[in-house]
Amino acid sequence: MNLILMGLPGAGKGTQAEKINETYHIPHISTGDMFRLAIKEGTELGRKAKEYMDQGELVPDDVTIGIVKERLNKDDCKDGFLLDGFPRTIAQAKSLQSLLDEMNTSIDYCLHVDVPEENLVERLTGRRVCQTCGATYHVIYNPPEQEGICDNDGSKLIQREDDQADTVKNRLDVNMEQTKPLLDFYDNKGYLVTINGDQEIDHVFQDIQSAIEE
Ligand code: ADP
Ligand code: AMP
Ligand code: ZN
Repeated sequence: MNLILMGLPGAGKGTQAEKINETYHIPHISTGDMFRLAIKEGTELGRKAKEYMDQGELVPDDVTIGIVKERLNKDDCKDGFLLDGFPRTIAQAKSLQSLLDEMNTSIDYCLHVDVPEENLVERLTGRRVCQTCGATYHVIYNPPEQEGICDNDGSKLIQREDDQADTVKNRLDVNMEQTKPLLDFYDNKGYLVTINGDQEIDHVFQDIQSAIEE
């Protein structure tokens, strides 16, 4: 199964991706996670990406498409993959299309996790993440058992730099502009399924399961 998770920052893509990955065992490919890892490792890619991420801007298409191409060519993607946070522009969507054509495969579903814009600032500023295992929490909506500590491995939770209030606004503006044409792109191809993301995390996941097991 080849899936795309689409939605504005904070819609819950990463949270649902963890659940999809646990249940269906398909690799979770998050371009945001790949960039953050590159920054942590101090690579050239990380240096390039950081300039844009710190401002809440998109990393240029050629860089982003390059890393996805490399990732999708790995063996573990042969039986399916879950893209989270990619594509974010029409140019990325078209490149993905050509890449999948070359690989003789296609998208099964593009799941749009839809959340009213007014909820997103609170979701993003309250987000806390584990740098060890990648788990995502929320201070109010999905708190860990012990404040500030990851349930899975006891690591200290952190706030992403781009989740500070001053960057969040620009990220939302940038992404809103790009999202609508992308939704139309996948709707026209018949892949788009809209999921109500404004419900409890487990209910959102149930709706995703119903959609993909149809
Ligand atoms: P994205 O990957 O789309 O940017 P995340 O999955 O990281 O979004 O979720 C953003 C924040 O919102 C996190 O703090 C997460 O715990 C919280 N969250 C995710 N889904 C829900 C939900 N259905 N209801 C309330 N909060 C949620
Ligand atoms: P995310 O973790 O998906 O919220 O992404 C964090 C940041 O990484 C974004 O604000 C962008 O700067 C960058 N990024 C992630 N995915 C993409 C993409 N597909 N295209 C361009 N930039 C991206
Ligand atoms: Zn952890």
